[in-house]
Amino acid sequence: MSKETLGFQAEVKQLLQLMIHSLYSNKEIFLRELVSNASDACDKLRFDATQHPDLYEGDGELNIRVSFDKAARTVTIADNGIGMRRDEVVANIGTIARSGTKEFFSQLTGDSAKDSHLIGQFGVGFYSAFIVADKVTLTTRRAGETAATRWESAGDGEYTLEDVEKTGRGTEIVLHLKDGEDEFLNDWRLRSVITRYSDHINLPILMPKRAEHDDEGKELPPSGEWEAVNQANALWTRSKSEISDEQYKEFYKHVSHDWEEPLAWSHARIEGRQEYTELLYIPKQAPFDLYERERRHGVKLYVKRVFIMEDTEKLMPQYLRFVRGVIDSADLPLNVSREILQQSRDVEAIKTGCVKKVLGLLEDLAENRKEDYASFWQTFGKVLKEGVGEDFTNKERIAALARFASTANEGSEQNVSLADYIGRMKEGQEAIYYITADTFAAAQHSPHLEVFRKKGIEVLLLSDRVDEWFASSLTEFDGKPLQSVAKGELKLDAFADEAEKQQQEAAETEFKSVLDKVKAALDGQVKDVRVTTRLTDSPACLVVENHDMSANLERLLKSAGQ
Ligand code: ADP
Ligand code: MG
Repeated sequence: MSKETLGFQAEVKQLLQLMIHSLYSNKEIFLRELVSNASDACDKLRFDATQHPDLYEGDGELNIRVSFDKAARTVTIADNGIGMRRDEVVANIGTIARSGTKEFFSQLTGDSAKDSHLIGQFGVGFYSAFIVADKVTLTTRRAGETAATRWESAGDGEYTLEDVEKTGRGTEIVLHLKDGEDEFLNDWRLRSVITRYSDHINLPILMPKRAEHDDEGKELPPSGEWEAVNQANALWTRSKSEISDEQYKEFYKHVSHDWEEPLAWSHARIEGRQEYTELLYIPKQAPFDLYERERRHGVKLYVKRVFIMEDTEKLMPQYLRFVRGVIDSADLPLNVSREILQQSRDVEAIKTGCVKKVLGLLEDLAENRKEDYASFWQTFGKVLKEGVGEDFTNKERIAALARFASTANEGSEQNVSLADYIGRMKEGQEAIYYITADTFAAAQHSPHLEVFRKKGIEVLLLSDRVDEWFASSLTEFDGKPLQSVAKGELKLDAFADEAEKQQQEAAETEFKSVLDKVKAALDGQVKDVRVTTRLTDSPACLVVENHDMSANLERLLKSAGQ
């Protein structure tokens, strides 16, 4: 196919402008992003080559090369990874083929510091090249194919595509620097950016060997050799004492594709029946696709430091789908296929171990970094709560991590744990009381709470969508039953004084004829009509039996069309 000119998706244009403005103060990160992509491309090739070794085309030494040309004013980043076909270039580089794009634009605030965190989430790392370049030329050949493609753009709304020749497989990106960006035409500058942001990269990042000097101090002509700038050993294989917090954070940004720092991490080498290393992170912010069925990122699996795959289901349960990081197994076969992984008991055992680590990390946060835990809960609490229904073994631990709004609080903040609640239970109180509703306001104003307010008994206010599931999966905690205030008999007898009991009995006799009439009028629509001490202000309320579906769940199911 000959040269063609295509327009960027409208959003890409907008994003480019935004990115250039909001990231200019931190412009050197373009190199981090391009190196990160090159490293991903090599990982992908390595995985595909486990099944199709021909893809190496006799060149199995994967690496990334960074160089510059002072005269041409260009910086070049090249890799011998998987490369892209023409259609992949269009799909990956010309569009933001991400479902959350609209939402993204609606979240922008105009505050560049805030917005730059959002930008990173949308898989737009490649475009950061335009922070320093006014023209970008990408030439790429997919491993195993002959045709190569050249993509070129000035970042102004259009790009060209043409078929070209390329001997080596992989991708080469040439940045034609803008006026004033000459600082990157400098060996020392490029090396220091690489060391700062990309030292953890698992394969060599090469730069031309520095020029030697002769005896009189004169620079000798370049030798044409390359040398590694980074340590090029996998970060997670180093011992903890050798890794700085900065390095842990940069590695997180690479594996997660997040531009924000992580909230916390756990790094451990596990020995025993399964031998593996895990380095798992809790993000600060939720990815935009947290609630989508198809998610872009998850945890990466390596076998003996060779990347196998990134997985969004097999390595972490659904309720921990926000966790990012790597697991490196010492035992799994290197040519393990995705199909084998689906059923592998070894993978299952690793997953079980990693879940325990993550729960331990969260418990530690909850105990020792309360503010951070509160922000974690606000961001991911709804997801974690799914675990009570999903993970039978760890149910109690997950329930202990849950936080709720409560009648003991002023506002809607979810900060009461079940243990807090139990610690405040009244003399003679047997159950943990809760109410579920569509919204916090509906829960807070429910007539069912009247009697509890009167008697000073705390009630947990559950109004997240997942809460119905949570409450029906957790029947007790720490030996105390969970009891909906809208279900069955409340067993508040212990709190009724003599006068109240007499009042109830008197009322039952006095209103017998009323009750009978109401029962007759509602025949077939309700099971029973009772006199109650539940209410103080409202004349009547609906109650379901203990084992019946709650009214709120019925509403949810109806709205879901069931
Ligand atoms: P992300 O890395 O978060 O997916 P980027 O904007 O950095 O977002 O890259 C977009 C996509 O372009 C990548 O997912 C990948 O498919 C493709 N891509 C970018 N750089 C390369 C490269 N060097 N080799 C192969 N594919 C690449
Ligand atoms: Mg990227």
